[in-house]
Amino acid sequence: MTEFDYPASWYAATRDADKVRPALATQEVADVAVVGGGFAGLHTARLLAQKGQRVVLVERRRIGWGASGRNGGFVGPGYAQRSGALIDRLGLDHARQLYAQSQRGVAIVRNAITELGHPDILMGTGKLSVSRTDQGAGFADRTRKLAEQLGASFEPWETSRVRAVLATARYHQAIHDPTSFHIHPLNLALALAADIERQGGKIYESTEGDGLTRDGGAWQLRTQRGSVRAPHVVLAGNADLGAVQPRIARAVLPVATYVAVTEKLGARLGEAIQWTGAISDTRRAGDYYRIVDRDRLLWGGRITTDTTEPKRLRDMMRRDILSVYPQLGSIEIAHAWPGIMGYAPHKMPQVGEIEPGLWVCSAFGGHGLAQTAAGADAVAAGILGDPSRCQLFAPFGTGWAGGAAGRAATQLAYWGLQMRDWWDEKRQTQNAETLRT
Ligand SMILES: Cc1cc2nc3c(=O)[nH]c(=O)nc-3n(C[C@H](O)[C@H](O)[C@H](O)COP(=O)(O)OP(=O)(O)OC[C@H]3O[C@@H](n4cnc5c(N)ncnc54)[C@H](O)[C@@H]3O)c2cc1C
Repeated sequence: MTEFDYPASWYAATRDADKVRPALATQEVADVAVVGGGFAGLHTARLLAQKGQRVVLVERRRIGWGASGRNGGFVGPGYAQRSGALIDRLGLDHARQLYAQSQRGVAIVRNAITELGHPDILMGTGKLSVSRTDQGAGFADRTRKLAEQLGASFEPWETSRVRAVLATARYHQAIHDPTSFHIHPLNLALALAADIERQGGKIYESTEGDGLTRDGGAWQLRTQRGSVRAPHVVLAGNADLGAVQPRIARAVLPVATYVAVTEKLGARLGEAIQWTGAISDTRRAGDYYRIVDRDRLLWGGRITTDTTEPKRLRDMMRRDILSVYPQLGSIEIAHAWPGIMGYAPHKMPQVGEIEPGLWVCSAFGGHGLAQTAAGADAVAAGILGDPSRCQLFAPFGTGWAGGAAGRAATQLAYWGLQMRDWWDEKRQTQNAETLRT
């Protein structure tokens, strides 16, 4: 395996035929240069190529090599930052417009799957966000009120309805979003890349953008053996942008999370989980999972700022699964892999023009499949002369994420939040036991 091969994920093992693209070794001239071949870069390049722009995209490794080819595959509206916090900070009107932009992202992904002629990329519909603590009597009213405020389609499910489809006593109420769906993300990335080329765009793999200078009315993006000269450059490198633009690189904090896929589990999986949509729990760093390939469980979870892969990753993931569904008994993990999310301190994406002709579309955190499309849509519109959608993201700047100190602070905050989740659950169990005795 070379440095540029895909990680040994279930997605890589089941990916559609792909081609290895050459590294850039010439001087290219374009309307827009895009740095990064994840969903942020791919959607931006595709939306611009569709409008007749000459686009050149450079990717350090392979298309979809980063978070975009490794994630849970859930596509849904909203952002890594909670909607309630956005309403508090920005007011209802602004938060509602941001939510609408994320819904636009969902529609872009859904339409792309149809337009690209790969219906099998879509693997299931609907999403349940389940609570591990009892949300009390007001839950349904609060949920409906928030949905109405945001113009959202989600709805409350009571505990009995949740437990009718998920055979675990861990869960109480849920929020059901019928507009969410789940996909094979690496195959979507590969299909988007092929479509960019069909529309006349150029893509170079094994090509790192490592320097950027202003040269008259254009930017000069340098790579190891070539360059791209363009009036617009879009930085879509997530948490690993590197030397090409140190300020943006410092503004995004890398946070690791993990995914595992089991061996085929047969009928016992369908008995435990009678829901073919996506499922996540609402803890600050909760589990997210879904059934794939009829009877395999794809399970994601945990976050840490330590980005090295744990030695006993498979055991950790097996334990997490069995802590919710012990009835699955002995399970083998067929694939397990890490992925890096990019977070800004405000937990919102960085989307907009930071210098004339220099655009950023990054920091989507753990909520990026639709949101990258939403950000790309805003940036593409901005490049074509309509700044209104980028302005929605203007309150979220590109400030320093704190480097090593920021990482330590994030890890501490995460442990604190985990403790709070654990304590909330424990207190409820104790209360329930007190009531029983
Ligand atoms: C394990 C995991 C599970 C997740 N689950 C979900 C989920 O279920 N739903 C959801 O909505 N979100 C999920 N996310 C988040 C989502 O995957 C990301 O927010 C999204 O994919 C980010 O896309 P991106 O294009 O910004 O970054 P990436 O996909 O990381 O792409 C950035 C690319 O840029 C390249 N690059 C960086 N710097 C340079 C450079 N200087 N020159 C050339 N190339 C460069 C990198 O090699 C990389 O390929 C998950 C993330 C992870 C890691």
